Amino acid sequence: MSRKILIVGGVAGGMSAAARLRRLDESAEITIFERGPDVSFANCGLPYYVGGEIADRSKLLVQTPDRLRATLNLDVRSRHEVLAIDRAAKSVEVRNLATGQTFTERYDHLILSPGAAPIVPNLPGVRRPGHFVVRSIPDVDAIQSWLDSQTVRTAVVVGGGYVGIEMAEQLHRRGLAVTVVERNDRVLKTFDPEMAGPLHFELRKHGVALALGDELAGFDDTAPGESAAASVVVLKNGKRLPADLVVLARGVRPESSLAKAAGLELGPTGGIRVNDRLQTSDPAIWAVGDAIEVTHGVTGQPALIALGGPANRQGRIVADNITGRTSRYPSTIGTAVVRVFDVTAACTGASEELLKIQSIPYRAVHLHPNSHAGYYPGAQPIALKLLFAPDTGRVLGAQAVGKDGAEKRIDILATAIKAGMTVDDVADLELCYAPPYGSAKDPVNLAGMAAQNVLAGLVEGAQWSDVEALVAAGALIVDVRDPKEREGGFIPSSVNIPLGQLRVRLTELPTDRLLLVHCASGQRSYNACRILAQKGFRCKNLSGSYKTWAAGTETLS
Ligand code: FAD
Repeated sequence: MSRKILIVGGVAGGMSAAARLRRLDESAEITIFERGPDVSFANCGLPYYVGGEIADRSKLLVQTPDRLRATLNLDVRSRHEVLAIDRAAKSVEVRNLATGQTFTERYDHLILSPGAAPIVPNLPGVRRPGHFVVRSIPDVDAIQSWLDSQTVRTAVVVGGGYVGIEMAEQLHRRGLAVTVVERNDRVLKTFDPEMAGPLHFELRKHGVALALGDELAGFDDTAPGESAAASVVVLKNGKRLPADLVVLARGVRPESSLAKAAGLELGPTGGIRVNDRLQTSDPAIWAVGDAIEVTHGVTGQPALIALGGPANRQGRIVADNITGRTSRYPSTIGTAVVRVFDVTAACTGASEELLKIQSIPYRAVHLHPNSHAGYYPGAQPIALKLLFAPDTGRVLGAQAVGKDGAEKRIDILATAIKAGMTVDDVADLELCYAPPYGSAKDPVNLAGMAAQNVLAGLVEGAQWSDVEALVAAGALIVDVRDPKEREGGFIPSSVNIPLGQLRVRLTELPTDRLLLVHCASGQRSYNACRILAQKGFRCKNLSGSYKTWAAGTETLS
């Protein structure tokens, strides 16, 4: 008898499972229930449709139910919501949202891929006209129609996560004056503060206002004296931001209520608990995507990580397991990328902040290598951060921000993390090189080498965030850049001895104080530290040097 498989949610994880199931089992009966009007749509493309970069709406529809029926023999039922699961009877209760009728459908295997819902704060006025979330095509249709039918000059995006930043960029592209409200001290929290600094700079450079460390308090009508707007976003500090359009992008929560009501186990994060075959606490029910709790591949802790790549791969794995293969999903490391105007920001593994929260020992190095050989036109600096274990040298995380080549380096380091590589392995990676593409020592190799130097004790590193405390404890900051470079900014109280003069000016330096040495990016100061250490001075190299310090303290120029 053929297997009967029901799938809840017809987008990333659900549709990936369905397609693989069909390829593995021609006789299975596969039915997909999708609450919305569309299946297999490009949720990741939605902001770019709002901004007009994706001009043709039909491009968002990667597949249609008819095509899926014809090519994969899938029974795709859009506008059908699964209301409840009867685990004893192995059936689900479904409502056809077009007709209002409900019916019951039996299953041998049930796959849950209901995704995650935008968090909408329970505040008065939150559902006003002109307020939107961005999850589905109807959501962006509503935004388009608001933009087309109203005079919309100002927008407030509440939430500076990936979706919030993409929406801010795209609404700016539509000519709106945009403000991003973010309760944290920075946008994109998976980036540490000194890596988010250049993103703040880029957003502000393009005229996007940032209200950081500001919490949403509610919404109001415009008051006399305020410019007319559909809404006023009110912040806890009393600030009022009139907005013709408001995007609520405060993150997502897993859609686990259906699973919970059916008595399936949830994890401590509220996501559906699954084993490494992606089976829930009921062996006939599987779950994938944003709704599940995963194990973080670096911390080993339960985590919610809502990303398209994991959801798609998990769908494939479930199909394997249902059809008798053994396929495992060990963990998610959170590899992600976002474009912020002319800059790309990418990250993988654990951030420094996460490692601190989890009390995981780490060391960090910062570098600013060029995207390709500096002598070949067009090279752009990449701010690169590598986090690694102090004992084994295992790579724990990486972040990169730059105009060119940032995501390529993070993809390599993501592979290194998945493979359990150490900084020695990374230093030794053989990567492709020709001047237009890279350098003979790729930025990834350089990061591994810088970390090796730290682990070998060739240099003691200090972080941008240590500067204040080190100075308070008596350290002297030595800037080994050329005097001209200081015109663009310098660290207060630093003395300037250019690297080229250091050997002949050693007598100017105290032998009884720690020397905190920096240059622009950390390379010249490493050379200076090697000279100083061999001459008997106590010194630390400021990792990432002036550029990282300026980014962390946001004194970027
Ligand atoms: P989804 O793809 O969200 O699908 C879940 C579906 O289940 C929904 O359509 C929902 O209507 C349906 N559903 C829920 N409950 C029921 C029910 N009871 N009955 C029937 N149907 C139900 N990730 C990246 O990696 N990179 C990106 O650039 C990126 N950009 C994004 C941009 C936006 C605007 C959004 C919203 C997300 C973005 N993501 C991105 C995240 C990515 O889209 C998700 O991680 C991925 O889609 C999750 O897949 P999923 O199958 O778990 O859920």
